[in-house]
Amino acid sequence: MSYRGRFAPSPTGPLHFGSLVSALASWLDARAHGGAWLVRVEDIDGPRTVPGAAEDILATLEAFGLHADEPPLCQSERTARYQEALEQLRDAGLVYPCGCTRKEISDSLLNARTRNTTLAYPGTCRNGLHGKPARAWRLRVPDGDAGRGVAGGITGDAATITFEDRWQGLQTQNLATEVGDFVLRRADDQWAYQLAVVVDDADAGITHIVRGADLMDSTARQIYLQRCLGVPTPRYLHVPVVTNGLGEKLSKQTGATALDPSRPLDALYAAAEHLKLEMSGRTQESLQAFYDAATTAWARRIETLRTITPQ
Ligand code: GLU
Repeated sequence: MSYRGRFAPSPTGPLHFGSLVSALASWLDARAHGGAWLVRVEDIDGPRTVPGAAEDILATLEAFGLHADEPPLCQSERTARYQEALEQLRDAGLVYPCGCTRKEISDSLLNARTRNTTLAYPGTCRNGLHGKPARAWRLRVPDGDAGRGVAGGITGDAATITFEDRWQGLQTQNLATEVGDFVLRRADDQWAYQLAVVVDDADAGITHIVRGADLMDSTARQIYLQRCLGVPTPRYLHVPVVTNGLGEKLSKQTGATALDPSRPLDALYAAAEHLKLEMSGRTQESLQAFYDAATTAWARRIETLRTITPQ
């Protein structure tokens, strides 16, 4: 198997320190494995996409010496593939149209909460639209108590997804109780992130996904979707997210500032520190020297994590 990794920024603003950490970690992991590193612009969410941000992010990556091994891909050019995937799932009876509004869902969840159950989509439209117009398409997840068997190598019910995260260790999520049937095509006619990311990673032959831990919660959904579509599951590694002084994930909304492309080394050394890479000081002012030292330090770091992660 030859390693293929990727960095998948959403062009909602310029590259900031938090996204640099994900970019650097995915680049170092690819280099440490002698693999390829790809960049995909996740501009599928039309309303959140900021004009010019994609070009800005790509130029900043170049200025930081993070060169991709293949031309970058844009999700907005791949909608025909998302449609094909939805049709494949529809033909297999795995998706259904949903007519619920946000308000109806939150009202029913409020009732559910008083009955002391969790906040998964309650499956209102599973067996029909109740006369409502179709708004979104949802993927049916297994019932929590159905088909007791083996999921991801661990015995449990069919709705339980388990995977070994290379940084964070063993992860488990029950899709029936913690998520519910989830949206693949949104009511506002946008493709959902979960579908686009799975189709794109599979088509690009991605073998290893390295990204921020804020996406950990999506991973079980993505693994389940991979199984439904019959595509391989990559290895996952989620790096700790960067937070601001209030403990909020760094993003444009929480005050992240754009990186300065004229001073890449300052930010790169800070990103290496966030990842707890042992860099033995900053002796040389060259990107090449930084990347050589950081690749070795990354390989060592991952080795340490592997030996301390409980199996
Ligand atoms: N586009 C997503 C983000 O910027 C990342 C998706 C992924 O790495 O799977 O948060």
